[in-house]
Amino acid sequence: MVRNQYQAKMMRICGHEDMASFSFNNKRERMADRAYARNTLCAECSGKVRGLIVAGAPGGFHRVSPVMMRGTPKRVTWATQIRLEKLRKFGPVMAHLASLSEDPLARKALAVYEMLFAVTAAVFWIDNRSPNAFCQYWLVSEIEHLSRSTDLYSAHYLPSSVYGHCRKFEPALIAGARAVFVELEKVSAEADQSAQVQMGEAAA
Ligand SMILES: [Zn+2]
Repeated sequence: MVRNQYQAKMMRICGHEDMASFSFNNKRERMADRAYARNTLCAECSGKVRGLIVAGAPGGFHRVSPVMMRGTPKRVTWATQIRLEKLRKFGPVMAHLASLSEDPLARKALAVYEMLFAVTAAVFWIDNRSPNAFCQYWLVSEIEHLSRSTDLYSAHYLPSSVYGHCRKFEPALIAGARAVFVELEKVSAEADQSAQVQMGEAAA
């Protein structure tokens, strides 16, 4: 069966427009594709976020508060060890993100990692012990989850999603990270407004 294909300019969740490709068999799929495109980052922002992790230079270290791990004693020991390994890996990345305080995407990325390292469920750390966990594409999708004001109807969360985990088990962590996102969006809306005023004055 030949799938319908087309490209369309879509407004993405980051507030930028870009071309999204669609390939669908029926109206339901087409609607789902469009909803997905509206609720994800544009190609440029997604690339920028992924670049933030690559750029994580060794040297600096970003401290996070210790957590009281929850689970059976055996699991708690194992999970604490895994969290420590991840902290060694991402501590320098977070330090790099913290140094980019003028970059809203870097601040959102840092909020995601701070939310991750506040997770107290031992089983989440054990399930995500793979060395590849919490890297570039994971970060893009966590930023997308936190950018949405409501959850997508069709959203499914991978076991590695810290947003998916917190939504079910530690919702207070989402509230903390979302507060950072809301604050950043307010600042950028004000900046847009003042830029428009300035353009208006220049034109007058
Ligand atoms: Zn964008």
